[in-house]
Amino acid sequence: MDEARGVTVGLADVSRELGRVAGPTAGPTLIAVAGVHGNEPGGVHAARRVLGRLDELRGALRGEVVMLAGNVEALRQGRRYLARDLNRRWSDEALAHLTDAPEDVEQGDLTRAIEAAVARARGEVFLVDLHTTSAPGVPFVIFGDGERQRRFVFALPVPLLLGLVAHIDGTLAEYWRRRGLVTFAIEGGQHDDPRSVDNLAAALWVALASAGNVAPSATPECDDAMRLLDGRRGALPRVIEVLARRAITADDRFVMEPGFANLAPARAGQLLARDRGGEIRAPHDGVVILPLYQALGSDGYFWGRAHPSG
Ligand SMILES: [Zn+2]
Repeated sequence: MDEARGVTVGLADVSRELGRVAGPTAGPTLIAVAGVHGNEPGGVHAARRVLGRLDELRGALRGEVVMLAGNVEALRQGRRYLARDLNRRWSDEALAHLTDAPEDVEQGDLTRAIEAAVARARGEVFLVDLHTTSAPGVPFVIFGDGERQRRFVFALPVPLLLGLVAHIDGTLAEYWRRRGLVTFAIEGGQHDDPRSVDNLAAALWVALASAGNVAPSATPECDDAMRLLDGRRGALPRVIEVLARRAITADDRFVMEPGFANLAPARAGQLLARDRGGEIRAPHDGVVILPLYQALGSDGYFWGRAHPSG
């Protein structure tokens, strides 16, 4: 009961390091960050669940696994953030000019925790950023492209959004990718849906296997995780290439057509939205990504299509 309730309320007991497990043999380091948005405690529950099991599997673990809370104070209060979005303004420039504002303090402290894990690392370092969304939908991954990135991320049987990072400035996962880590961010489902915790825990197991921290043959959780995530994907493509962003302003009077999930296939010519210019229809068969159903925002939706590498 407490676990289920904890999905929707603040986590009074959370601190920066949720846990750390090191195996007897050298290997990769996997860092998971949970709750960069304080209204998304699902990642914290998933991290704690996986940590509990990793502790039992310690003898078979390679390298180190570190799970960190993102916005600690916002998680305690159950708020998305206190003064500003902690998943923006990740750059060397911003980190060099942090103030005593709440999210600046969090960003500095989180950075030191990640750097400490990187300093201890004796192998490749991976970072997974765990999120949930306000709208329901299947879990999906956002990642920056690259050879090492693909080797890590393509293990996940969820829709992988290729090219979305180019439209979002200053995210945590992209910043640490540029600093040499292999990273992705995952949206695990709706904030208060207990299945989101299952999805994010499953993503962690697949990531641990893909990074090389655990052997899937010795860890039944990995197979279960693959099956769970594969089932959640349904008919959506594995790899979705993001082609365009529908930028909007309040003057556009943009209204999304009802009924689109976070990722929704659309047929050529299908009505997607309306604005002061009239109807907006799908230019070809493709996928509507992150449609805007709230009053505020400058992204009406993103438009993509199945990528051949899927
Ligand atoms: Zn988030």
